[in-house]
Amino acid sequence: MEADGERAPGVSRRRLLIGGAGTLVVAGAAGYAGRDGIRRWWWRASGKERPRTDGAVDHPGAEWVAASSANWRRAERPDDYAVDRIVVHVVQGGYGDALRVFRDPLHEAAAHYVVRKDGHVAQTVRELDVAFHAGNRRFNERSIGIEHEGYVDRPRGFTDAMYASSARLAAGICARYRIPVDRTHIVAHSEVPGTDHTDPGPHWDWERYLRLVREAPVS
Ligand SMILES: [Zn+2]
Repeated sequence: MEADGERAPGVSRRRLLIGGAGTLVVAGAAGYAGRDGIRRWWWRASGKERPRTDGAVDHPGAEWVAASSANWRRAERPDDYAVDRIVVHVVQGGYGDALRVFRDPLHEAAAHYVVRKDGHVAQTVRELDVAFHAGNRRFNERSIGIEHEGYVDRPRGFTDAMYASSARLAAGICARYRIPVDRTHIVAHSEVPGTDHTDPGPHWDWERYLRLVREAPVS
C-alpha cells in the first residue's frame, strides 16, 4: 500500500473508474468552499438539519475518512429521498487511491463506503447524504454506493474477507432501509442507466455475494 497522500505509480486519475475522469470542472477550491458555506447556512437556518456528530458512522466498525464536501450533497435521507438501491463498484485501484480521490474536491465523485481486501471498511460519506457515485442523479439520490479495492479484470483481488465484509455492510443497509436482497435492488455500477462504467465487471460473483448478504448477521 502506498503512503497516504501519494499517487501510486501509473495510477492516474483517468484510470480510476470512480466518477469519470473527463468531468473535471474548472473551479478553484475557494468556489467550492463558498458554495458549501451557503449550503450549510441554509440547512441551519431552515431548522431541518439533524444533529450530526463528527466522525459518526452508519456501519458499526467502519472507520470514518471524510470525503471532500464537493463530492456529495447534503440531504436528510430517507426523509427527503427513499433509499432503495445499493450500487456495487470496483475502484480500479487500491483502497488508498479511492480515499485520496474522494478527498479531492475536484474529483466530483465519492461513494459512501470503501472496502479493503482484508475486509476493513471506511465510510467516507454519511448515508443521510447523496454521494456522487453512480453517474446518474436519480440513482445517487436513491442509493448507497460501496467501492471495493481492486480491478475488474483481477478476480483474485476480490478476497473472501472482502466479500464477507461487504456483505455484512450491505445486509445492514438493507435492514436499515428495508431493501430487498436481490439483483433488482443490489446492482452493478455498470447497470445504472446512462453510465459508461464497467465495474464491478464480469468476475464479481453475484450469486455468492447475495447469499452472503442474506446470511450476514445484522448488527
Ligand atoms: Zn463505479
